[in-house]
Amino acid sequence: MGARSMVALEKRGNWRTGDPRISKDVTPSIEVGHLLFWANHLVREFSWPVVVWSKSAQRAIKFYTADADGDMTGKELKLEFCEQCEKNTPTDDSSKECSVCSGELSQPRDELLYGQVRKLCTWDHLMQDVLAAPSWDDLLQRRDELPFHLATAALGEYALLHNGRPELFDGYPDVGGSWFYRSAIVQVTAWLMMAKAREEFGLSDIASGTYHMSLKERGVDLAKWRHYVAMAIDLHRKGDRITPVRKGFYKLA
Ligand SMILES: [Zn+2]
Repeated sequence: MGARSMVALEKRGNWRTGDPRISKDVTPSIEVGHLLFWANHLVREFSWPVVVWSKSAQRAIKFYTADADGDMTGKELKLEFCEQCEKNTPTDDSSKECSVCSGELSQPRDELLYGQVRKLCTWDHLMQDVLAAPSWDDLLQRRDELPFHLATAALGEYALLHNGRPELFDGYPDVGGSWFYRSAIVQVTAWLMMAKAREEFGLSDIASGTYHMSLKERGVDLAKWRHYVAMAIDLHRKGDRITPVRKGFYKLA
């Protein structure tokens, strides 16, 4: 992910909401938003853990590994001096266990192949290229060129760059639940940021407009995706950011 994105993320700060379903046990500067999807892609693609920290809180480390489904799961570590390693290492704050000494961070992983690095660079370039799309519709047309999690990240980043309603949306709600749901949250929120004032938008249009072709092989057909999109729309309806106009259709508040 580009340095520009990380800086932009820090500037944006946290999601303002009183919704109780939005998890509070996160570090906003890192955890909020679509960059998580980049990390999830890395975890799915490679055997190494992903370690993330922000400029503003360099001692707070997020440590991500893959769960049984290959999706990302994480915990928070703190950068502390380890006598054994004789340097600062990500350490579990409660058990005081150093992640290098415990083997968690230092266990042998698959060798990094040149082709994998090249593939990552290709994704990064493609991402930049897709982000330069002249319109939201163009971006949606191109979403299948990227793997699912990166497509989510691209839609999320694009909408933040062109956000038409900053007073309603200043970032992405960080919710728990499945990655399909979390992805739907980012994509629906992005769609709403791009919606024009007084424009009506339909649940079905958003669902088919954001459905990614790779979802099918992961057991999510369009009907199931529509269900996640409906949940994401409901979150915003309850947060008074959108209002229903008729069945299945909404407009911005
Ligand atoms: Zn150590």
